[in-house]
Amino acid sequence: MKLVVIGGVAGGPSATAKAKRVNPDLEVVAFEKGGFISYAACGLPYVVSGDIPSLDALVARTPKQFADQGITIKPRHEVLNVDYANRQVRVFNHLGHTEFTESFDRLLIATGATPTHPNLPGLALGNIFTLRSMEDGRAILEAVNALPSGARAVVVGGGYIGLEMAEAFVKRGLRVTVVEQLPRLLGNVDREIADIAKNELERHGVEVLLESRVTGFSGDGRVEKVLTTHGELEASLVLLALGVHPNSKLAASFGVDTLPTGAIAVNDRLETNLEGVYAVGDVVEVHHLVSGRHAYIPLGDTANKQGRVAGVNIGGGSAHFPGVVGTAVSKVFDLGFAVTGLTELDAVYMGLEARSTLIQAPDVASYYPGATPLSVKLVYEPSSGRLLGAQMAGRVGAVKRIDVIAALLHRRGTLEELSDLDLAYAPPFSAVWDPLLIAANQALSS
Ligand code: FAD
Repeated sequence: MKLVVIGGVAGGPSATAKAKRVNPDLEVVAFEKGGFISYAACGLPYVVSGDIPSLDALVARTPKQFADQGITIKPRHEVLNVDYANRQVRVFNHLGHTEFTESFDRLLIATGATPTHPNLPGLALGNIFTLRSMEDGRAILEAVNALPSGARAVVVGGGYIGLEMAEAFVKRGLRVTVVEQLPRLLGNVDREIADIAKNELERHGVEVLLESRVTGFSGDGRVEKVLTTHGELEASLVLLALGVHPNSKLAASFGVDTLPTGAIAVNDRLETNLEGVYAVGDVVEVHHLVSGRHAYIPLGDTANKQGRVAGVNIGGGSAHFPGVVGTAVSKVFDLGFAVTGLTELDAVYMGLEARSTLIQAPDVASYYPGATPLSVKLVYEPSSGRLLGAQMAGRVGAVKRIDVIAALLHRRGTLEELSDLDLAYAPPFSAVWDPLLIAANQALSS
Protein backbone atom coordinates (compact mmCIF):
# COMPACT_ATOMS: atom_id res chain seq x y z
CA MET A 1 0.00 0.00 0.00
CA LYS A 2 1.42 3.38 -1.03
CA LEU A 3 0.43 6.88 0.11
CA VAL A 4 1.29 9.96 -1.94
CA VAL A 5 1.00 13.33 -0.17
CA ILE A 6 0.79 16.69 -1.96
CA GLY A 7 1.98 19.53 0.28
CA GLY A 8 4.67 19.41 2.95
CA VAL A 9 4.16 22.19 5.51
CA ALA A 10 1.69 21.36 8.33
CA GLY A 11 -1.20 19.04 7.44
CA GLY A 12 0.85 16.89 5.04
CA PRO A 13 3.77 16.07 7.37
CA SER A 14 1.46 15.50 10.32
CA ALA A 15 -0.54 12.94 8.29
CA THR A 16 2.50 11.16 6.87
CA ALA A 17 4.09 10.68 10.28
CA LYS A 18 0.86 9.37 11.83
CA ALA A 19 -0.01 7.06 8.92
CA LYS A 20 3.45 5.52 9.04
CA ARG A 21 3.21 4.97 12.81
CA VAL A 22 -0.20 3.29 12.46
CA ASN A 23 0.94 1.16 9.53
CA PRO A 24 4.75 0.75 9.45
CA ASP A 25 4.46 -1.19 6.15
CA LEU A 26 2.92 1.80 4.38
CA GLU A 27 5.12 3.30 1.66
CA VAL A 28 4.92 7.11 1.96
CA VAL A 29 6.11 9.69 -0.59
CA ALA A 30 5.37 13.39 -0.06
CA PHE A 31 5.93 16.23 -2.55
CA GLU A 32 6.35 19.90 -1.63
CA LYS A 33 6.83 22.47 -4.37
CA GLY A 34 8.57 24.95 -2.07
CA GLY A 35 12.12 24.64 -0.79
CA PHE A 36 11.21 23.96 2.86
CA ILE A 37 9.14 21.27 4.54
CA SER A 38 7.53 20.83 7.95
CA TYR A 39 7.78 24.34 9.40
CA ALA A 40 5.74 26.76 11.49
CA ALA A 41 4.61 29.53 9.13
CA CYS A 42 2.95 31.08 12.20
CA GLY A 43 6.40 32.04 13.49
CA LEU A 44 7.40 34.05 10.40
CA PRO A 45 6.34 37.49 11.75
CA TYR A 46 8.54 36.92 14.80
CA VAL A 47 11.58 36.15 12.64
CA VAL A 48 10.99 39.37 10.69
CA SER A 49 10.68 41.29 13.98
CA GLY A 50 13.94 39.80 15.26
CA ASP A 51 12.29 38.14 18.28
CA ILE A 52 13.30 34.77 16.78
CA PRO A 53 16.89 34.84 15.52
CA SER A 54 16.55 32.77 12.34
CA LEU A 55 14.16 31.01 9.98
CA ASP A 56 15.83 27.69 10.86
CA ALA A 57 14.18 27.83 14.30
CA LEU A 58 10.79 27.36 12.61
CA VAL A 59 11.65 24.01 11.04
CA ALA A 60 9.95 21.19 12.94
CA ARG A 61 11.46 18.20 11.10
CA THR A 62 14.01 17.86 8.30
CA PRO A 63 13.77 15.51 5.26
CA LYS A 64 16.48 13.41 6.96
CA GLN A 65 14.32 12.99 10.10
CA PHE A 66 11.42 11.88 7.92
CA ALA A 67 13.73 9.50 6.03
CA ASP A 68 14.80 7.97 9.36
CA GLN A 69 11.12 7.14 9.91
CA GLY A 70 10.92 5.55 6.45
CA ILE A 71 9.10 8.51 4.85
CA THR A 72 10.33 10.05 1.59
CA ILE A 73 9.58 13.78 1.46
CA LYS A 74 10.79 15.78 -1.52
CA PRO A 75 11.03 19.57 -1.46
CA ARG A 76 11.06 21.50 -4.76
CA HIS A 77 8.81 18.83 -6.32
CA GLU A 78 5.48 20.04 -7.69
CA VAL A 79 2.58 17.74 -8.51
CA LEU A 80 1.36 18.93 -11.92
CA ASN A 81 -1.66 16.70 -12.35
CA VAL A 82 -3.42 13.65 -10.99
CA ASP A 83 -4.67 10.76 -13.12
CA TYR A 84 -7.21 9.36 -10.69
CA ALA A 85 -8.43 6.55 -12.95
CA ASN A 86 -4.90 5.12 -13.16
CA ARG A 87 -3.92 6.26 -9.65
CA GLN A 88 -0.85 8.22 -10.73
CA VAL A 89 0.51 11.72 -10.15
CA ARG A 90 2.74 13.62 -12.57
CA VAL A 91 5.54 15.45 -10.76
CA PHE A 92 7.94 18.22 -11.85
CA ASN A 93 11.30 18.27 -10.11
CA HIS A 94 12.27 21.96 -9.92
CA LEU A 95 15.84 21.02 -8.98
CA GLY A 96 16.65 18.70 -11.90
CA HIS A 97 14.03 20.17 -14.28
CA THR A 98 12.70 16.68 -14.94
CA GLU A 99 9.22 15.16 -14.90
CA PHE A 100 8.18 11.74 -13.68
CA THR A 101 5.13 9.69 -12.71
CA GLU A 102 4.44 8.27 -9.26
CA SER A 103 1.70 5.73 -8.55
CA PHE A 104 -0.49 5.71 -5.42
CA ASP A 105 -3.11 3.67 -3.61
CA ARG A 106 -4.08 6.51 -1.27
CA LEU A 107 -3.70 10.23 -1.97
CA LEU A 108 -3.63 13.05 0.57
CA ILE A 109 -4.20 16.63 -0.60
CA ALA A 110 -2.57 19.09 1.78
CA THR A 111 -2.00 21.91 -0.69
CA GLY A 112 -2.95 24.67 1.74
CA ALA A 113 -3.90 28.18 0.74
CA THR A 114 -2.51 31.08 -1.28
CA PRO A 115 -2.51 34.75 -0.27
CA THR A 116 -4.98 36.89 -2.17
CA HIS A 117 -3.33 39.20 -4.73
CA PRO A 118 -5.47 42.14 -5.77
CA ASN A 119 -5.58 42.92 -9.48
CA LEU A 120 -4.14 46.43 -9.14
CA PRO A 121 -1.82 48.56 -11.27
CA GLY A 122 1.82 48.46 -10.16
CA LEU A 123 1.52 45.13 -8.33
CA ALA A 124 4.67 43.79 -10.04
CA LEU A 125 6.91 46.52 -8.55
CA GLY A 126 9.74 45.46 -6.27
CA ASN A 127 9.33 45.39 -2.47
CA ILE A 128 5.64 44.44 -2.63
CA PHE A 129 5.25 41.19 -0.70
CA THR A 130 2.81 38.65 0.59
CA LEU A 131 3.75 36.37 3.49
CA ARG A 132 3.02 32.66 3.38
CA SER A 133 6.19 30.61 2.99
CA MET A 134 9.74 30.55 4.32
CA GLU A 135 10.84 32.00 0.96
CA ASP A 136 8.45 34.94 1.49
CA GLY A 137 9.78 35.42 5.02
CA ARG A 138 13.36 35.43 3.78
CA ALA A 139 12.57 37.95 1.00
CA ILE A 140 10.85 40.32 3.45
CA LEU A 141 13.71 39.97 5.92
CA GLU A 142 16.26 40.86 3.21
CA ALA A 143 14.20 43.86 2.10
CA VAL A 144 13.83 45.14 5.68
CA ASN A 145 17.56 44.68 6.32
CA ALA A 146 18.30 46.83 3.26
CA LEU A 147 16.03 49.72 4.30
CA PRO A 148 17.24 52.67 6.35
CA SER A 149 15.67 53.12 9.76
CA GLY A 150 12.58 55.34 9.49
CA ALA A 151 11.62 54.13 6.00
CA ARG A 152 7.88 53.59 5.63
CA ALA A 153 6.17 50.21 5.35
CA VAL A 154 2.53 50.04 4.33
CA VAL A 155 0.53 47.02 5.41
CA VAL A 156 -2.56 46.49 3.29
CA GLY A 157 -5.16 44.55 5.29
CA GLY A 158 -5.92 44.70 9.00
CA GLY A 159 -6.35 41.00 9.76
CA TYR A 160 -4.15 39.18 12.27
CA ILE A 161 -1.23 38.59 9.89
CA GLY A 162 -1.23 42.26 8.83
CA LEU A 163 -1.18 43.41 12.45
CA GLU A 164 1.52 40.92 13.51
CA MET A 165 3.64 42.23 10.64
CA ALA A 166 2.90 45.89 11.48
CA GLU A 167 4.38 45.17 14.91
CA ALA A 168 7.37 43.38 13.33
CA PHE A 169 8.13 46.34 11.06
CA VAL A 170 7.94 48.80 13.98
CA LYS A 171 10.36 46.62 15.93
CA ARG A 172 12.71 46.81 12.93
CA GLY A 173 12.70 50.63 13.06
CA LEU A 174 10.24 51.30 10.23
CA ARG A 175 7.38 53.80 10.24
CA VAL A 176 4.20 51.83 9.57
CA THR A 177 0.78 52.55 8.10
CA VAL A 178 -2.01 49.95 8.07
CA VAL A 179 -4.64 50.45 5.37
CA GLU A 180 -7.95 48.63 5.82
CA GLN A 181 -11.02 49.04 3.64
CA LEU A 182 -13.52 48.10 6.39
CA PRO A 183 -14.46 50.52 9.20
CA ARG A 184 -12.56 48.27 11.69
CA LEU A 185 -9.53 45.99 12.06
CA LEU A 186 -9.50 42.24 12.88
CA GLY A 187 -12.51 40.95 10.99
CA ASN A 188 -12.92 37.91 13.27
CA VAL A 189 -13.91 39.93 16.38
CA ASP A 190 -16.63 42.49 17.09
CA ARG A 191 -16.03 46.21 16.81
CA GLU A 192 -15.48 46.91 20.55
CA ILE A 193 -12.61 44.42 20.69
CA ALA A 194 -11.19 45.46 17.32
CA ASP A 195 -11.06 49.09 18.50
CA ILE A 196 -8.73 48.05 21.33
CA ALA A 197 -6.32 46.68 18.68
CA LYS A 198 -6.46 49.99 16.83
CA ASN A 199 -5.61 51.92 20.03
CA GLU A 200 -2.73 49.54 20.75
CA LEU A 201 -1.28 50.06 17.26
CA GLU A 202 -1.63 53.84 17.52
CA ARG A 203 -0.07 53.79 20.98
CA HIS A 204 3.02 52.30 19.30
CA GLY A 205 3.09 54.91 16.54
CA VAL A 206 1.36 52.90 13.80
CA GLU A 207 -0.91 54.98 11.57
CA VAL A 208 -4.22 53.18 10.97
CA LEU A 209 -6.33 54.21 7.97
CA LEU A 210 -9.78 52.65 8.06
CA GLU A 211 -12.33 52.74 5.24
CA SER A 212 -9.45 53.31 2.81
CA ARG A 213 -9.06 51.13 -0.26
CA VAL A 214 -5.78 50.65 -2.10
CA THR A 215 -6.18 51.40 -5.81
CA GLY A 216 -2.63 50.84 -7.05
CA PHE A 217 1.10 51.26 -6.57
CA SER A 218 3.66 53.47 -8.26
CA GLY A 219 7.44 53.65 -8.33
CA ASP A 220 10.49 53.24 -10.51
CA GLY A 221 11.27 49.52 -10.39
CA ARG A 222 10.51 49.46 -6.68
CA VAL A 223 7.39 50.62 -4.91
CA GLU A 224 7.51 54.27 -3.82
CA LYS A 225 3.84 55.12 -3.36
CA VAL A 226 0.64 53.35 -2.45
CA LEU A 227 -2.40 54.91 -4.07
CA THR A 228 -5.55 54.81 -1.94
CA THR A 229 -9.07 56.21 -2.06
CA HIS A 230 -7.83 58.76 0.51
CA GLY A 231 -4.70 59.88 -1.32
CA GLU A 232 -1.12 58.67 -1.79
CA LEU A 233 1.13 57.14 0.84
CA GLU A 234 4.89 57.11 0.62
CA ALA A 235 6.15 53.49 0.89
CA SER A 236 9.52 51.73 0.69
CA LEU A 237 7.93 48.36 1.35
CA VAL A 238 4.38 47.01 1.06
CA LEU A 239 2.94 43.91 2.65
CA LEU A 240 -0.33 42.64 1.20
CA ALA A 241 -2.23 40.79 3.91
CA LEU A 242 -5.64 40.42 2.31
CA GLY A 243 -6.51 36.91 3.38
CA VAL A 244 -6.05 33.59 1.62
CA HIS A 245 -7.96 31.29 -0.69
CA PRO A 246 -7.76 27.50 -0.77
CA ASN A 247 -5.35 25.87 -3.23
CA SER A 248 -7.93 23.47 -4.60
CA LYS A 249 -7.56 23.84 -8.39
CA LEU A 250 -5.48 20.68 -8.75
CA ALA A 251 -7.97 18.66 -6.68
CA ALA A 252 -10.97 20.01 -8.57
CA SER A 253 -9.27 19.20 -11.89
CA PHE A 254 -9.59 15.44 -11.26
CA GLY A 255 -13.07 15.43 -9.77
CA VAL A 256 -12.71 16.26 -6.07
CA ASP A 257 -15.82 18.15 -4.87
CA THR A 258 -15.33 21.73 -3.70
CA LEU A 259 -17.71 24.13 -1.95
CA PRO A 260 -18.62 27.73 -2.92
CA THR A 261 -15.58 29.09 -0.99
CA GLY A 262 -13.40 26.94 -3.25
CA ALA A 263 -12.38 24.74 -0.33
CA ILE A 264 -12.60 20.95 -0.57
CA ALA A 265 -15.57 19.21 1.04
CA VAL A 266 -14.55 16.38 3.38
CA ASN A 267 -16.36 14.13 5.84
CA ASP A 268 -15.32 13.71 9.47
CA ARG A 269 -12.77 11.05 8.44
CA LEU A 270 -11.23 13.72 6.14
CA GLU A 271 -12.25 11.73 3.05
CA THR A 272 -13.21 13.54 -0.13
CA ASN A 273 -15.92 12.31 -2.50
CA LEU A 274 -13.29 10.15 -4.31
CA GLU A 275 -12.47 6.80 -2.76
CA GLY A 276 -8.91 6.73 -1.36
CA VAL A 277 -8.46 10.52 -1.63
CA TYR A 278 -8.17 12.50 1.62
CA ALA A 279 -7.72 16.24 2.21
CA VAL A 280 -6.64 18.28 5.25
CA GLY A 281 -5.66 21.77 6.37
CA ASP A 282 -6.15 25.14 4.72
CA VAL A 283 -7.51 23.55 1.55
CA VAL A 284 -10.64 22.13 3.26
CA GLU A 285 -13.76 23.50 4.89
CA VAL A 286 -14.58 22.51 8.45
CA HIS A 287 -17.79 21.81 10.30
CA HIS A 288 -18.49 24.66 12.75
CA LEU A 289 -19.85 23.10 15.92
CA VAL A 290 -21.63 26.27 17.11
CA SER A 291 -23.34 27.34 13.88
CA GLY A 292 -23.76 23.79 12.59
CA ARG A 293 -22.64 25.03 9.17
CA HIS A 294 -19.58 24.65 6.95
CA ALA A 295 -16.92 27.29 7.55
CA TYR A 296 -13.57 28.18 6.02
CA ILE A 297 -11.25 28.89 8.98
CA PRO A 298 -7.68 28.18 7.83
CA LEU A 299 -5.51 27.67 10.92
CA GLY A 300 -2.35 25.77 11.74
CA ASP A 301 -3.59 23.84 14.75
CA THR A 302 -6.57 22.57 12.75
CA ALA A 303 -4.27 21.48 9.88
CA ASN A 304 -2.10 19.50 12.31
CA LYS A 305 -5.06 17.85 14.04
CA GLN A 306 -6.69 16.96 10.75
CA GLY A 307 -3.40 15.54 9.50
CA ARG A 308 -3.31 13.24 12.50
CA VAL A 309 -6.88 12.05 11.94
CA ALA A 310 -6.34 11.49 8.21
CA GLY A 311 -3.08 9.68 9.01
CA VAL A 312 -4.85 7.24 11.34
CA ASN A 313 -7.53 6.51 8.71
CA ILE A 314 -5.02 6.16 5.87
CA GLY A 315 -2.96 3.83 8.05
CA GLY A 316 -6.00 1.56 8.47
CA GLY A 317 -7.31 2.79 11.84
CA SER A 318 -10.44 4.79 12.56
CA ALA A 319 -10.45 8.42 13.70
CA HIS A 320 -12.81 11.37 13.37
CA PHE A 321 -12.38 15.13 13.24
CA PRO A 322 -15.48 16.50 14.96
CA GLY A 323 -15.14 20.11 13.75
CA VAL A 324 -14.08 23.41 15.25
CA VAL A 325 -15.59 26.13 17.39
CA GLY A 326 -13.51 28.83 15.67
CA THR A 327 -10.92 29.50 18.37
CA ALA A 328 -8.06 31.82 17.46
CA VAL A 329 -5.61 34.12 19.20
CA SER A 330 -3.11 36.73 18.03
CA LYS A 331 -0.81 39.38 19.46
CA VAL A 332 -0.61 43.10 18.74
CA PHE A 333 2.33 44.64 20.64
CA ASP A 334 1.56 44.19 24.37
CA LEU A 335 -1.96 42.83 23.96
CA GLY A 336 -3.50 39.55 22.93
CA PHE A 337 -6.79 39.21 21.04
CA ALA A 338 -8.73 35.98 21.32
CA VAL A 339 -11.98 34.69 19.90
CA THR A 340 -14.01 31.52 19.98
CA GLY A 341 -17.43 30.62 18.61
CA LEU A 342 -19.54 33.22 16.87
CA THR A 343 -19.17 36.96 17.14
CA GLU A 344 -22.32 38.97 17.76
CA LEU A 345 -22.11 40.13 14.15
CA ASP A 346 -21.88 36.50 12.90
CA ALA A 347 -24.83 35.48 15.06
CA VAL A 348 -27.02 38.35 13.83
CA TYR A 349 -25.96 37.65 10.25
CA MET A 350 -27.01 34.01 10.67
CA GLY A 351 -30.38 35.09 12.03
CA LEU A 352 -29.73 33.62 15.49
CA GLU A 353 -31.27 35.01 18.63
CA ALA A 354 -28.20 36.55 20.29
CA ARG A 355 -27.36 38.96 23.08
CA SER A 356 -23.98 40.04 24.42
CA THR A 357 -22.25 41.31 27.56
CA LEU A 358 -18.98 43.21 27.58
CA ILE A 359 -17.01 43.67 30.80
CA GLN A 360 -13.58 44.95 31.70
CA ALA A 361 -11.84 43.71 34.85
CA PRO A 362 -8.24 43.43 36.10
CA ASP A 363 -6.54 40.27 34.81
CA VAL A 364 -4.90 39.68 38.22
CA ALA A 365 -5.88 40.95 41.69
CA SER A 366 -6.27 44.72 41.33
CA TYR A 367 -3.73 45.32 44.14
CA TYR A 368 -1.14 43.00 42.57
CA PRO A 369 1.68 44.71 40.57
CA GLY A 370 1.08 44.84 36.83
CA ALA A 371 -2.70 44.33 36.94
CA THR A 372 -3.98 45.12 33.45
CA PRO A 373 -7.57 45.45 32.19
CA LEU A 374 -8.95 42.38 30.45
CA SER A 375 -11.97 42.93 28.20
CA VAL A 376 -14.34 39.98 27.88
CA LYS A 377 -17.30 39.89 25.56
CA LEU A 378 -19.72 36.97 25.82
CA VAL A 379 -22.27 36.22 23.11
CA TYR A 380 -25.20 34.00 24.12
CA GLU A 381 -28.73 32.92 23.33
CA PRO A 382 -30.94 34.81 25.81
CA SER A 383 -33.80 32.28 25.95
CA SER A 384 -31.63 29.25 26.84
CA GLY A 385 -28.46 30.91 28.15
CA ARG A 386 -26.46 28.83 25.67
CA LEU A 387 -23.05 30.35 25.00
CA LEU A 388 -22.47 31.18 21.34
CA GLY A 389 -19.03 32.74 21.55
CA ALA A 390 -16.55 34.97 23.35
CA GLN A 391 -13.84 37.48 22.58
CA MET A 392 -11.08 38.89 24.75
CA ALA A 393 -8.48 41.61 24.63
CA GLY A 394 -5.84 41.96 27.29
CA ARG A 395 -2.37 40.92 28.33
CA VAL A 396 -0.96 38.14 26.15
CA GLY A 397 -1.16 35.35 28.76
CA ALA A 398 -4.49 36.53 30.13
CA VAL A 399 -6.47 36.05 26.91
CA LYS A 400 -5.66 32.32 26.85
CA ARG A 401 -8.68 32.10 29.17
CA ILE A 402 -10.57 31.88 25.86
CA ASP A 403 -9.87 28.12 26.02
CA VAL A 404 -12.30 27.80 28.93
CA ILE A 405 -15.08 29.13 26.73
CA ALA A 406 -13.91 27.01 23.77
CA ALA A 407 -14.22 23.89 25.94
CA LEU A 408 -17.73 24.91 27.00
CA LEU A 409 -18.73 25.56 23.37
CA HIS A 410 -17.70 22.02 22.47
CA ARG A 411 -20.28 20.82 25.01
CA ARG A 412 -22.98 23.40 24.15
CA GLY A 413 -22.36 24.98 27.57
CA THR A 414 -24.47 27.75 29.11
CA LEU A 415 -23.85 30.97 31.03
CA GLU A 416 -24.92 29.21 34.19
CA GLU A 417 -22.38 26.44 33.67
CA LEU A 418 -19.68 29.06 33.10
CA SER A 419 -20.70 30.89 36.25
CA ASP A 420 -20.46 27.63 38.27
CA LEU A 421 -16.93 26.73 37.10
CA ASP A 422 -14.25 26.27 39.73
CA LEU A 423 -11.53 28.46 38.17
CA ALA A 424 -8.07 28.92 39.70
CA TYR A 425 -7.44 31.91 41.94
CA ALA A 426 -4.39 33.46 43.56
CA PRO A 427 -3.57 37.20 43.38
CA PRO A 428 -0.74 36.92 40.75
CA PHE A 429 -3.08 35.01 38.40
CA SER A 430 -6.58 36.36 38.84
CA ALA A 431 -8.89 38.34 41.10
CA VAL A 432 -11.05 36.28 43.43
CA TRP A 433 -13.77 36.80 40.83
CA ASP A 434 -12.16 35.82 37.57
CA PRO A 435 -13.15 38.12 34.65
CA LEU A 436 -14.92 35.14 33.03
CA LEU A 437 -17.11 34.68 36.10
CA ILE A 438 -17.80 38.42 36.28
CA ALA A 439 -18.89 38.38 32.62
CA ALA A 440 -21.12 35.31 33.11
CA ASN A 441 -22.76 36.77 36.21
CA GLN A 442 -23.35 40.10 34.51
CA ALA A 443 -24.97 38.34 31.54
CA LEU A 444 -27.13 36.22 33.87
CA SER A 445 -28.39 39.25 35.75
CA SER A 446 -29.11 41.37 32.65
P1 FAD B 1 0.22 25.24 3.86
O1 FAD B 1 0.97 25.67 5.06
O2 FAD B 1 -0.30 26.27 2.94
O3 FAD B 1 1.10 24.22 3.04
C1 FAD B 1 0.69 23.70 1.82
C2 FAD B 1 1.89 23.45 0.96
O4 FAD B 1 1.46 22.75 -0.21
C3 FAD B 1 2.56 24.73 0.45
O5 FAD B 1 3.88 24.83 0.93
C4 FAD B 1 2.55 24.58 -1.05
O6 FAD B 1 3.79 24.95 -1.67
C5 FAD B 1 2.33 23.08 -1.24
N1 FAD B 1 1.71 22.77 -2.53
C6 FAD B 1 0.60 23.33 -3.05
N2 FAD B 1 0.35 22.80 -4.27
C7 FAD B 1 1.31 21.87 -4.50
C8 FAD B 1 1.58 21.01 -5.58
N3 FAD B 1 0.82 20.97 -6.66
N4 FAD B 1 2.66 20.18 -5.49
C9 FAD B 1 3.46 20.21 -4.39
N5 FAD B 1 3.25 21.03 -3.35
C10 FAD B 1 2.18 21.84 -3.38
N6 FAD B 1 -2.33 29.54 12.18
C11 FAD B 1 -2.63 29.46 13.51
O7 FAD B 1 -3.38 28.56 13.89
N7 FAD B 1 -2.10 30.34 14.41
C12 FAD B 1 -1.25 31.33 14.04
O8 FAD B 1 -0.77 32.10 14.88
C13 FAD B 1 -0.94 31.45 12.67
N8 FAD B 1 -0.11 32.44 12.25
C14 FAD B 1 0.23 32.51 10.93
C15 FAD B 1 1.11 33.50 10.52
C16 FAD B 1 1.49 33.58 9.20
C17 FAD B 1 2.42 34.66 8.77
C18 FAD B 1 0.99 32.64 8.24
C19 FAD B 1 1.39 32.71 6.81
C20 FAD B 1 0.10 31.67 8.64
C21 FAD B 1 -0.29 31.58 9.98
N9 FAD B 1 -1.19 30.61 10.43
C22 FAD B 1 -1.51 30.52 11.76
C23 FAD B 1 -1.82 29.68 9.47
C24 FAD B 1 -1.06 28.36 9.34
O9 FAD B 1 0.26 28.63 9.00
C25 FAD B 1 -1.75 27.53 8.29
O10 FAD B 1 -3.06 27.26 8.73
C26 FAD B 1 -1.03 26.22 8.05
O11 FAD B 1 0.25 26.43 7.53
C27 FAD B 1 -1.82 25.36 7.06
O12 FAD B 1 -1.12 24.21 6.79
P2 FAD B 1 -1.38 23.38 5.46
O13 FAD B 1 -0.42 22.24 5.51
O14 FAD B 1 -2.82 23.09 5.31
O15 FAD B 1 -1.06 24.37 4.25
